[in-house]
Amino acid sequence: TRLYGVCDYYDAESLLTGDERRVLGRLRSFLDREARPVLADYWERGEFPTHLEQPLIDLDLMEPAEGGALRPRSTPARGIYQGFRIFELARTDASLATWYTAQAGLFRTAIRVGASAEQQEKWMPQVIDFSLKGVFSLTEPESGSDIAGGLSTTARREKTRDGDIWVLDGAKRWIGGAATADVLAVFARDVADGQVKGFLVDREADGVALEKIRGKTSLRMMQNAHITLSSVRVPESMRLHNVNSFRDVAAMLRAMRSDVAWIATGIQAGAFEAALSYVTGRHQFGRPLGSFQLIQEKLARMLGNVTASLSLVVRLTEQQAKGIYRDQDSALAKMQTCLLMRETVALARELVGGNGITLETDVARFHADAEAVYSYEGTHDINALIIGRALTGVSAFAP
Ligand code: FAD
Repeated sequence: TRLYGVCDYYDAESLLTGDERRVLGRLRSFLDREARPVLADYWERGEFPTHLEQPLIDLDLMEPAEGGALRPRSTPARGIYQGFRIFELARTDASLATWYTAQAGLFRTAIRVGASAEQQEKWMPQVIDFSLKGVFSLTEPESGSDIAGGLSTTARREKTRDGDIWVLDGAKRWIGGAATADVLAVFARDVADGQVKGFLVDREADGVALEKIRGKTSLRMMQNAHITLSSVRVPESMRLHNVNSFRDVAAMLRAMRSDVAWIATGIQAGAFEAALSYVTGRHQFGRPLGSFQLIQEKLARMLGNVTASLSLVVRLTEQQAKGIYRDQDSALAKMQTCLLMRETVALARELVGGNGITLETDVARFHADAEAVYSYEGTHDINALIIGRALTGVSAFAP
């Protein structure tokens, strides 16, 4: 039996192995049984359902062992399988998918790309089993899209009797999951050479202050923090030794943007399924809503969007599995899936009528959450400019 039915129109799941599908099936059952019933309540309260974290971790989401049937833990999971795990989470809830990709995508990529071989040997097993939880702290209050040039958090190297340390000063904004993390991967500019360097900062270190960003109207379950760093001391051993300039950070962003394209695809699948089920059950004018031509046109457009997005991310992931990583490739996937997502969730909301603005149906949550996904990991404009630069050879980022 197929896991994804109509929302995987061209049967992309046939690219998965039987074992991979079985783990995804277990994830599906857990989400349906334990997560779905409580999501609206947590969303409304603006809290993350932390009781779901450990059971999700226990499902071996990062590197499934499966008694050796899947790849051993030491080698990364297949991209396509990783993509479907994100898809499955996002099709249930965008905050759950964001929580997962914060560790499995953002933080893990910071270690994979930024840490030296010795550091990776020490940290990676803990990253994979979530015993070292981390977040990616790049954006600043005054620098979002122009973070490459505008990054102003500083790092100053000092010699002490116990070895070299770095002193960090500045602020970071929007950092997802920071309040429950063990360490913050912080990117700061070395005052000596002006280059961006990376550091793992203990969340409880002296000088680290976290403030929850309140009043969010999107991704309300996901906790985002405003972080202030005041003379925070970090030992040289906790510097990410392979981050020597913003180029190295850009290499991380390239890998992470594809995860967001999978999230944008999963959100569409969730919204489409919820709307389809609604119009099948609700009657107006003595007939099911789904029997009207105008409703069917909207359903067809939504399915077209989901199918186009899934085809796009599957192909991108296949390219990446071959080692082809270009800025413009993941930028295109992020930009296009998010454009389609905005239309899909708006159509879903429309089909559910007045009930589409309450948390009673899942549609309102998908509709609201899509807005944050549209903006994070490079806005539409920034990803379009990355593609434009590749097409024309001219960077239009700054006048
Ligand atoms: P701005 O850069 O101020 O942009 C505002 C508007 O101007 C946008 O529409 C943008 O497209 C447009 N714009 C900017 N420059 C140009 C230009 N040259 N040409 C045309 N238009 C332009 N960051 C992290 O480091 N870690 C995280 O974990 C993290 N999680 C996040 C979670 C959420 C829910 C959100 C909302 C954000 C998160 N971010 C995180 C930050 C995110 O990456 C930034 O919000 C994003 O990069 C945009 O920056 P900004 O919000 O400062 O917008």
